[in-house]
Formats: sequence, structure tokens, C-alpha cells
Amino acid sequence: MNEISEADVIVVGGGLHGTSSALHLAKRGVKVIVLEADYVARHSSGVNAGGVRTLGRPLPEIPLALMSREIWHGMTDLLGEDGGFVPSGQLKIAETEAELETCRERVALLASHGFTHEKIIDRETVLELEPALARHVTGGIWVERDGYALPYRTTTAFRLAAQRLGVRFLEGTPVRRIEQRGERWFAQTPRGTFGAQKMLIASGAWSGELSKQAGEPVPVHPEGLMLMVTHRVAPFCRATLGATGRPLSFKQFDNGTVVIGGKLIGIAELANRHGEVDFMRLVKSAQTVTDLFPHLRHLGVNRAWAGVEAFTEDELPVISASRTASNLYYSFGYCGSGFQLGPGCGKLVSELMLDGEPSLSLDAFAIDRFHARATSAAADALPLVTH
Ligand SMILES: Cc1cc2nc3c(=O)[nH]c(=O)nc-3n(C[C@H](O)[C@H](O)[C@H](O)COP(=O)(O)OP(=O)(O)OC[C@H]3O[C@@H](n4cnc5c(N)ncnc54)[C@H](O)[C@@H]3O)c2cc1C
Repeated sequence: MNEISEADVIVVGGGLHGTSSALHLAKRGVKVIVLEADYVARHSSGVNAGGVRTLGRPLPEIPLALMSREIWHGMTDLLGEDGGFVPSGQLKIAETEAELETCRERVALLASHGFTHEKIIDRETVLELEPALARHVTGGIWVERDGYALPYRTTTAFRLAAQRLGVRFLEGTPVRRIEQRGERWFAQTPRGTFGAQKMLIASGAWSGELSKQAGEPVPVHPEGLMLMVTHRVAPFCRATLGATGRPLSFKQFDNGTVVIGGKLIGIAELANRHGEVDFMRLVKSAQTVTDLFPHLRHLGVNRAWAGVEAFTEDELPVISASRTASNLYYSFGYCGSGFQLGPGCGKLVSELMLDGEPSLSLDAFAIDRFHARATSAAADALPLVTH
């Protein structure tokens, strides 16, 4: 029998959520091994748009996003570098009166829940912030403390900080099977078996297979999210932009290039661990950009790519202890918005795993919520018995 490599915690997946959780666990003195099928930051966490956005979050995610944003602002204290974080502000543009009304309703809804980070701004203020925008804009929502960062650099910085605290990263080490013997968890890989008291599944779009092995199937599916980056152009846009009526995520880096996306769906190949670009769909996005910035009409695209991301059916992540087994935890299914949450969720996951209670409630992200919903839908569908 193979010798078993031991740790206190095994993390399956070296994306931002795996590396951030590993770092926060190691800060509490825990011995961690991260098992990564490809290489750290190979998938969503290294190839995303870098948006550090609290703007537009679903209500249950807002407390996490606001907490995570404070970590972004102090990233150098945590990692010794800032991951390229630029607090550029994020602006969601309205292009019609009806869209501006939608923005007002959103901000009023947030206010009714006590959240005041999203502010309505009028057309003049939008154009003052971004003078190169097309004149048809009608206003928007502005979040001053949001921004963007460099995804590969950030995830690598988490990895290096974790390594400095003794975390071991094994790349090219896919976990084929997970299994509990007694209280301990074991991960079988082509490089041998790894054992630990606790296990965290942070395997992005591949997490569903592992949760199924633990007897907890989750409705999670992969999507290939696309981005493109343009040639360099003179500085014209400072904020990170989104739109209200159509998909858009848009920012200009200091080097002049512009990154364009906005949950544009390409092709996800889970088995081949690969995303493919669908150029016809990218064209639509290019059209949005030239509508908003007509002077970019002749700007060339340098590169386009697709990253494989995990989506759940209610568009919220799973951040949870297992409901069927002891010592097993999950953090996956970030639905195209998990980069911003990575620093904060890693901290909360470490608290969940070590203290049982995180400092912010994770109840909305419990793994059994899908099952509970399916059961109550089935009960609703039962015929009423009349006497
Ligand atoms: C194109 C694109 C743009 C995006 N833009 C933004 C944005 O602007 N802002 C934002 O907040 N979010 C954005 N996101 C979403 C964000 O990138 C993800 O939500 C986040 O990176 C998810 O991190 P993760 O650690 O859960 O997953 P991943 O980064 O996918 O990491 C999971 C890791 O687990 C490994 N793994 C899987 N199975 C196994 C196994 N069996 N054994 C060992 N290892 C395994 C994988 O190889 C992978 O490295 C974007 C995503 C994409 C694709």
C-alpha cells in the first residue's frame, strides 16, 4: 500500500478560493496541503476580468462582498503586495430613462435593507466621471470603493503568502476519489493518497463530481466565460464599467489595453479542462462597446479567451459544511463573480472549519438548500386529500 501523506486539512483546488482558504487556515497554525489538478490559477481565478465589484450583487452576497472589499483595500498588509488592485470605482451605466428607473429601484431596495454603498448619479455626473462616454447615457449607479485587480497576480500572491506559512501546493495532482475512513478524509490521486482530519472542496466547476462522491449532489454546471483584450489606446476611461440593459464589463488598464467581457458565454469543456471562444457572441459585445465609446470603432482585438466557471441554479455559491458527513467543507459555484469574494470567503471558510461559526452568516449558501427546495416543491405538487 502507498504511504499516505498527512496534513490537518486537504484543500482540493488551487484557485483563489482554495489558496485564500489555505492562507487563512495557515495563519491559524493549521498544516495544509493544496492538491491542484493543473496548476495554481490555471482556471477562472487566473483568467477572469479582475473586477473587484460589490455593485449589483444579489442581496445575500452583499455582507460578504463588503467585508471582502475591506481586505482588498488592505491587501498589502495581508500578502505583502496588492495584487494590482486599483480602486478605480465601478459605474453601471443607464442608457434610457427606463433603465435609470431600474437603477433607482435597485438602490431603494438596498437602502430598505440598510445598504448604502450603491449611489444613483445623474447624466452630468456620469459624463464628468467618464467624458469619453456616448452622450445618450441617462445616469447610473456609482460605487466609489470598488475597482479591479490582476487575477493571476492576485491568486499567485495568495499562494506565495500561504507557502511562506508552510502550506504545500502539489500541482498536476488531480483528486480522483474522496473517501472518509472513521473521522479522517482521504484523497486518491495519481501521486498517491493524501489524508487529513478535514477536507475542503474548492474545485470550481469540477466540484459537483466530488460532492456527489460524498453523497451530496448539487445542481452546478460549467460555463465558458469569454473575455477579449484590445490593442493599446490612449487613456480615456478610469472607472470599471458595466451596463444596465445589456451585458458589459469593461476597463482600461494602465498599459492602455481594454478588457471587455460581461458574462459572455462561450464553450466549457469540463472533461478536457478547457474553455473555447465563440467569436459570433464576442461580436455582440464589441458592438456594445462601440455604442458607448464610438471612438473605439477601429480598435483591434489582441486576444480572446474563455475560462471555465461554476454556476448554480440560484446563482449563489455553495459555502458550507457538509450536511451528510463530518469534517467536510465546500466553497464553489461563484457564478462569474467570485474573484472579488475570494479574500473574504477564504477567511470565513477558515472560521467555519476551525470554529464552527463564521464571523458572518453563511446560511444562505448552505449545500442542502437545493435539496430543501426540491423537497418542498415536491410536497406542493402532492394532490390535496379531501374528506
Ligand atoms: C472570463 C471570466 C471573467 C470573470 N470576471 C470576474 C470579475 O470580473 N469579477 C469577479 O469577481 N469574478 C469574475 N469571474 C469569476 C471568478 O473568476 C471565479 O468565480 C473565481 O475565480 C472562482 O474561483 P475558484 O477558486 O472557486 O475556482 P477556480 O479558479 O476554477 O479554481 C478551481 C481549481 O480546482 C482545480 N480542480 C478541479 N477539480 C480538481 C480535482 N479533482 N483535483 C484537484 N484540483 C482540481 C482546478 O484545476 C482549478 O484550478 C470571472 C470568471 C471568468 C471565467
